[in-house]
Amino acid sequence: MIDFTAKHAEVTARLRAAERVSGRAEGSVQLLAVGKTHPAESVRALALVGQRCFGENYVQEAQEKIPMLADLDLAWHFIGPIQSNKTRPIATLFQWVHSVDRWKVAQRLSEQRPVELGVLNICLEVNISGEAAKSGVMPMNLWPLAEAVARLPNLRLRGLMTIPAPLAEGADESSARAPFRALRALFEDLRRRGIEMDSLSMGMSDDLEAAVAEGATMVRVGTALFGSRNPKIL
Ligand SMILES: *Cc1c(COP(=O)(O)O)cnc(C)c1O
Repeated sequence: MIDFTAKHAEVTARLRAAERVSGRAEGSVQLLAVGKTHPAESVRALALVGQRCFGENYVQEAQEKIPMLADLDLAWHFIGPIQSNKTRPIATLFQWVHSVDRWKVAQRLSEQRPVELGVLNICLEVNISGEAAKSGVMPMNLWPLAEAVARLPNLRLRGLMTIPAPLAEGADESSARAPFRALRALFEDLRRRGIEMDSLSMGMSDDLEAAVAEGATMVRVGTALFGSRNPKIL
């Protein structure tokens, strides 16, 4: 059994240290615990040591897990690839979606969001490294998508998300930071053009320090909190 108290304390300490060395205000970066492939009991254990925001990648897994934890006051963030025929459960179960990368998905999420739940918070996923087979909108197509999504009635555009390409062996700190700096630049550009946003979802177990240094407001951490994932499921 994993010692969730210790894991949570370790990751929180890394986050606070990263804020300090980057001159960021203490507590300005939110920790999103990514529980994909881990059972509801593990999420519950982490919730009991004070973790409140959780990320999930797979619709079917989330549909099983989230109701089992309904007695806890948790915030659920969808961070996985989205098939347009799976938008309804996402629009119903989650408070945030970080992985919107096309108009059709945004439009469906807005249409299917139950009004009584209030707006669904959205980050647009950007393919910052320009990888061919990867989800995320290409930077050159970001502006028209952001402008359109910002006008959808049941969504609130909050910011941008990215998963950089894996680093080459022996890459240094500055190559780790480059994609995050590029996402931050896109974020600032959209804000200058009048899109109101406050969130940069970037950084994972291995690179959260680099992301915080470049302005992350939310880091998505799986392995460092839950241990390694079950490869049979993922
Ligand atoms: C799995 C996942 C994470 C967490 O990755 P770790 O390296 O385990 O911290 C973060 N973001 C997304 C989109 C993921 O799919």
